[in-house]
Amino acid sequence: MNQRLKGRVALITGGASGMGAAHARAFAGAGARIVIADVADEAGSALAAELGQSAMYLHLDVTRSADWTAAIAETLRIFGKLDVLVNNAGVLDGGPLGSFTEQQWARVLDINLTGPFLGMSAARAALIAARPASVINISSAAGMQGVSGMHAYTASKFGVRGLTKSAALELAPHGVRVNSVHPGGILTPMIAGAATDAPAIDRGDNTLGRLGLPEEVTDLVVFLASGESSYCTGAEFVVDGGMTAGSTFS
Ligand code: NAD
Repeated sequence: MNQRLKGRVALITGGASGMGAAHARAFAGAGARIVIADVADEAGSALAAELGQSAMYLHLDVTRSADWTAAIAETLRIFGKLDVLVNNAGVLDGGPLGSFTEQQWARVLDINLTGPFLGMSAARAALIAARPASVINISSAAGMQGVSGMHAYTASKFGVRGLTKSAALELAPHGVRVNSVHPGGILTPMIAGAATDAPAIDRGDNTLGRLGLPEEVTDLVVFLASGESSYCTGAEFVVDGGMTAGSTFS
């Protein structure tokens, strides 16, 4: 079995579903111990049970700093350290200016952007203690270019891209690398039920002409979690089937 993450401990937010679940399975397969952190308690517990002793599930609402404090403490209590933080939890919501409400805006920004900020704040000391450590912040192709009608989502994902760089600069001297990942349209529950409402940027409108699979993002996340990416920090890793490469004339 591939042991690229042997001995590492990783916390993955939004780990109960979609890409987060794919990351959890791959991390466990690569020799890591995993904390699956989510608000979807049933799915998260089931996945942890499937993965066995190398995994545990914790209820963590990424918008709540008290949840973060408790989750990091429990990770250290059970697994003894934290080497890798994957800020993956996110929600997709959109609508035209004038209709999209302030409450909708606040919810998307809270989960998608404040969540990673609270996570890095709570995990900072543990990550430094475990150095060399790695943070992977899941942004989006919508963090690279605008998407009509997806104001909060686009703003949150551009924000994650910027937050990643400021954190990378601060934490580099402490042995913690921080990078952002920018998936295009990936076939997960997030977009499976929203094919007509989801923005083009999160569908398969790309050069390869298809949606990606969660595992095609996971391979990149495993690389960033491992020592193989030791010279990468503060960088943007796009995995979007060519969506943001530009337009083709036909
Ligand atoms: P998903 O809906 O399958 O999974 C998201 C997970 O986040 C769920 O398990 C959900 O319970 C969890 N979550 C939601 N709110 C939470 C909260 N407050 N606290 C903790 N967990 C919470 O979605 P996915 O497609 O796997 O998305 C994963 C990440 O990838 C998200 O950040 C998303 O924005 C990003 N992304 C997705 C796509 C895509 O096409 N699917 C494209 C680009 C970026």
